Amino acid sequence: MSNFQHIKPAGKAQFKDRYTTKAAELLTPYTDGAKGDIAILGAPLSKPSISHSGASFAPDAIRRCLNSFTTYNIEEDTDISGKIIIDFGDIAMHPTSIEECHQRIYQSTKEIVQTEAAPFTIILGGDHSITTSTVKAIKEKKGTMGIIQLDAHHDLRNTEDGGPTNGTPFRRLIEEGHLKGEHLIQIGIRNYANAKAYHDYAIENGVTIYTMKDIKQHPIQELIHSALTRLEGKVDTIYLSVDMDVLDQAYAPGCPAIGPGGMDPDTLSEAVQTAIHHPKVQTMDIVEIDPTLDIRDMTSRIASLLIVNSLIK
Ligand code: CA
Repeated sequence: MSNFQHIKPAGKAQFKDRYTTKAAELLTPYTDGAKGDIAILGAPLSKPSISHSGASFAPDAIRRCLNSFTTYNIEEDTDISGKIIIDFGDIAMHPTSIEECHQRIYQSTKEIVQTEAAPFTIILGGDHSITTSTVKAIKEKKGTMGIIQLDAHHDLRNTEDGGPTNGTPFRRLIEEGHLKGEHLIQIGIRNYANAKAYHDYAIENGVTIYTMKDIKQHPIQELIHSALTRLEGKVDTIYLSVDMDVLDQAYAPGCPAIGPGGMDPDTLSEAVQTAIHHPKVQTMDIVEIDPTLDIRDMTSRIASLLIVNSLIK
């Protein structure tokens, strides 16, 4: 380095407070044999989105927002500064072929799960189309799959009309034989956000549905516990899929499909916290944040907080 007295590298913080650790400092790039408390992988794909989406920028934004949080939890009086987030980086997507992108997500998820670098893995989308590929890969490693999906939408659209879009991931899993409808639990489904045909498809296939009315009438812990009880004896592993548009538009301006009547961030956080304490919940994805639509990274910041909270699992 030079001998300049008052010049710092561009982008570096003005000073480092000796007593403060930021959650972003816990990010540790993966090297062979590395072990951590959780692992993250970016799946920056948003070309299959039905509406315009820059969700491919979300993994970077969510990592950046880890700078917004310290490692100290006042209420629990715990400091997670000694925890390690293994960062596998981002999957390189094909520039034009969506099928090839989905194949790369499948292959990469399979590879990172094989490393057993951490007991809990978080995949950062991307739009919701990524979930078919990640679930397929994890099922191959861990066995029969159960899914708890936090979402305003069923995501059970037909594929004839638009192909493997972000409206289809759970239908594709069911139709391709990777997931039984009875092993899918959808929480936060919202009025006037879905077609009747897809609600009927969910019911016919044995999918469990909790609407926003259910969330308003019951504590979220109660709903998550009943979801876990329903799944735990039937499946080998449980995947938590968090579509951020389950949140009300007031809290999630960065989601392409925003709407009123959704969940608040504390309820979402409580839902995730409750679910990930179950030993069979080993994987989570966070999808559908478009940082180019977001306001002051409000939506990405909530996603980052979900990651920080998962470190006290
Ligand atoms: Ca969705």
